[in-house]
Amino acid sequence: MLTLSRLLAASGSLWQGSAAFMLGLCIGSFLNVCIYRIPASRSIVSPGSACMSCGHPIRFYDNIPMLSFLILRGRCRYCHVPFSVRYPLVELITGLFALAAFLQWGISLTAVINLVFIASLLTITCIDLDHYLIPDVITLPGIPAGILASFFLPAMTVRDSILGTLLGGGILLAIAWAYEQIAHREGMGGGDIKLLAMIGAFIGWKGVLMTLFVGALVGTAAGGAVMLRTGSSMKLKIPFGPFLAIGALTYLFFGDILILWYWR
Ligand SMILES: [Zn+2]
Repeated sequence: MLTLSRLLAASGSLWQGSAAFMLGLCIGSFLNVCIYRIPASRSIVSPGSACMSCGHPIRFYDNIPMLSFLILRGRCRYCHVPFSVRYPLVELITGLFALAAFLQWGISLTAVINLVFIASLLTITCIDLDHYLIPDVITLPGIPAGILASFFLPAMTVRDSILGTLLGGGILLAIAWAYEQIAHREGMGGGDIKLLAMIGAFIGWKGVLMTLFVGALVGTAAGGAVMLRTGSSMKLKIPFGPFLAIGALTYLFFGDILILWYWR
């Protein structure tokens, strides 16, 4: 009987994990719409998706996350122009994050709130990579949303959330100001400042510090790698948003372990 109940429990969580993954795929599909339309100031609700080449509306059966891309071999059904591989990639990554959120926080309000936070970071990352901009329409509402969420997150306090917002926005504002005084040109975009303020609202002041640390570390490594490959100078333009996102996600999933490890 014990084996049977264990088997049932295992199959139950397997089913729930798959459901979380598939929910993530669908969220990723919506993120693709946001990534494409928010920088163009277009509605993310209507009209429905259409082929960017021939303009033919994409039917619901051709809009199944990942699956449709595989069935149609990444091409438009009508004009056969290839779609970017990033569409299924964003869906897959969001699916995996939804699964990770389920494994970390179970079926809970914490998982839902953190998944919304993760989804906004993924959207910001792609938009920043494409356009070198971090849209205010995500980060500015994200700050009060994060403070509001702290009321419902067991691991967060409102005080921590507000401190995180002030520290995140404050540090980058100070760096940007100092850089402008020294270099007499704008170094850091205002988008990065608002993004780190939003990150602070969701994960608090300790989260801000680890986000900056990990973001700078990964950013420097990536920048160095790009410079070595292209042989270009320091004037290279690299968006900082994706690295802040990597830092925030590192804290969200491994912050406790890393802090414990560090103090030992
Ligand atoms: Zn087409």
